[in-house]
Amino acid sequence: MTAAERCPQCNHSVFAEDRYCSKCGMKLAGAYRSRRVQERVREAMQDRRVRQVAGGAAIGAAAGLVLPVVTTGLGLVAGAAYAGYKVMKKD
Ligand SMILES: [Zn+2]
Repeated sequence: MTAAERCPQCNHSVFAEDRYCSKCGMKLAGAYRSRRVQERVREAMQDRRVRQVAGGAAIGAAAGLVLPVVTTGLGLVAGAAYAGYKVMKKD
């Protein structure tokens, strides 16, 4: 927590997260506050680690979508191999 901002009315130091001045009760700019939050979100999105985690999650989600298809494919191969084995045994 850092008192980086100043109340526009009484110049009392206030926290950037504060909605009201703790000294005079002046309502601090909500637009400024939300803009700060948006900037923080943008900074977080630009963070390499966050992007890597997001990329990994996307890959995991893609793998999860592909996996049933792969399993079905393996099942088909295994089923065909078993059927082929039975045919061979008959002969
Ligand atoms: Zn104030």
